Amino acid sequence: MASFTLHGIPVSRGIAIGRAHLLAPAALDVKHYLIAEEQVEAEVQRLQAAIATVHKELQTLWSALPKDSPAELGAFIDVHALILSDPMIVDVPLDIIRSRHYNAEWALVTQIDELSAQFEEIDDPYLRERKADIQQVGERVLKVLTGTATTLPKIDGDELAVRMIVVAHDISPADMLQFRDRAFGGFVTDVGGQNSHTAIVARSLDIPAAVGMFNASDLIAQDDWLIIDGDAGVVIVDPTPVVLEQYRERQARQLRERKKLSKLKKTPAITKDGVEISLCANIELPEDCAAAMEAGSSGIGLFRSEFLFMGRTGNVDKLPSEDEQFEAYRKAVTMMKGRPVTIRTLDIGADKPLDAAEQTALNPALGLRAIRYCLAEPQIFLIQLRAILRASAFGPVKLLIPMLAHAFEIEQTLSMISQAKAQLREANKKFDDAIPIGAMIEIPAAALALPLFIKRMDFLSIGTNDLIQYTLAIDRVDHEVAHLYNPLHPAVLYLVSSIIAAGARERIPVSVCGEMAGDVKLTRLLLGMGLREFSMHPTQLLPVKNEILNSDLTILGMQTRKILRTVEPAAIAEAVTQLGQL
Ligand code: PEP
Ligand code: MG
Repeated sequence: MASFTLHGIPVSRGIAIGRAHLLAPAALDVKHYLIAEEQVEAEVQRLQAAIATVHKELQTLWSALPKDSPAELGAFIDVHALILSDPMIVDVPLDIIRSRHYNAEWALVTQIDELSAQFEEIDDPYLRERKADIQQVGERVLKVLTGTATTLPKIDGDELAVRMIVVAHDISPADMLQFRDRAFGGFVTDVGGQNSHTAIVARSLDIPAAVGMFNASDLIAQDDWLIIDGDAGVVIVDPTPVVLEQYRERQARQLRERKKLSKLKKTPAITKDGVEISLCANIELPEDCAAAMEAGSSGIGLFRSEFLFMGRTGNVDKLPSEDEQFEAYRKAVTMMKGRPVTIRTLDIGADKPLDAAEQTALNPALGLRAIRYCLAEPQIFLIQLRAILRASAFGPVKLLIPMLAHAFEIEQTLSMISQAKAQLREANKKFDDAIPIGAMIEIPAAALALPLFIKRMDFLSIGTNDLIQYTLAIDRVDHEVAHLYNPLHPAVLYLVSSIIAAGARERIPVSVCGEMAGDVKLTRLLLGMGLREFSMHPTQLLPVKNEILNSDLTILGMQTRKILRTVEPAAIAEAVTQLGQL
């Protein structure tokens, strides 16, 4: 068969090479037949017994969960157990058997199709993707009913030589857990997106994967040779020997690099000329602290607290309460064992609406976002400030405020923080009165009026994602202008370098927490600008540390000053790749 390439969504990086193992295809495609009146109760019992078996399977999975498994795995099993207890899944199909005399499989599929259609209507993309959970639970029950199991064959021999690539319409996170200890190099699924649970688990298990491949499970045959390029979201089916060899080399190189890098976990990030650099992690939820600790981060440089608020409705009563937030922040603080945790206050709006249905602004990225929203909703803001302050009694916490641009916004924010402190004092609740307060510098106006911030703030953190968006006037989520998003645009370099320089001059700590900080191609440039604090996704910590260990700041400083005097994009790009070379 001729080689061909499929394109999907990259969700978990790395390269996997192996033979396709197709998982029980189209489990929801079941036999449909009507049963006789006298068989109804037996059919009902057959379905009940299958549901009970799946409950037991989930319990077994739970108790077999390895201690070091990511926290979300347990949560996924809980979600599936919860779905399996829902009357909509359990009782309705029984009614269908009794009233319409459908066989058990048909009754179950009818109800799952109905629920899936209802989920399709939901606007919120996160909730919409939960449709997959319902289908996965349904498939589990069907597999028990039809006696087809999702097990993988045992493969002996060198794990690297022949690896199995699982190809399926969809894979449940619980199934992935079962496959974990097997010779299993990666997976490809027809459905799924960045937010799908399976993608999240793949990332936390660090397995190359590509999802959203449409009809891959139809086009790929059992035992086909496959290459997954997890960084590009590409699958090459039946590659030619030349392509296979190229990817083998790339894979071997990546594996060698990773192995080498994993030895750096405990190595301090010190440059060749002896300057220590702080490497922190960006997290979305407290559980992510485990990955941050594992990668040896110096702390949390950005806790995007809005993830605790998203997926609920904009109604104040439905938002996380002060206690719920406090528990989440405290969890992060205790998990980080004395390392600082920088909690950013609610950055809601633009591409992170509280409630997608309520998004009415014509230009949301320029609308009532982040601190603007919080100052317009002081009650929500005060609840969050109190919760963060209370967590500061359990370890070092820093408060970070997004999207500030005006002096009066800074004043109002500081006054709200004082008010939250006074309320806690009144209620006899402990907190760190000297909690450092910092501003995200992510609007060009803030970068250009930096003295306003330096005077009033304890530290600054450059949000390059938004700083680039607003400097270049391109919506960061609009794919039609994605090609204009360029961190090396001279205007961006001018702003970033002048913020770092002002921080050094005025002795106020400055970090970068946007994606630029985790891009190894830019590490030397940022060091050359004088940056000493980086915050990034935990998976980037070791590659960036490696760059730091091989850097000499004196040389980089000189070379970077030259780059900053250049305006021609091609010359800048070329010089950045040469940084550090004499
Ligand atoms: C940024 O804007 O660079 C940033 C770190 O914040 P977010 O990506 O959450 O907007
Ligand atoms: Mg931002």
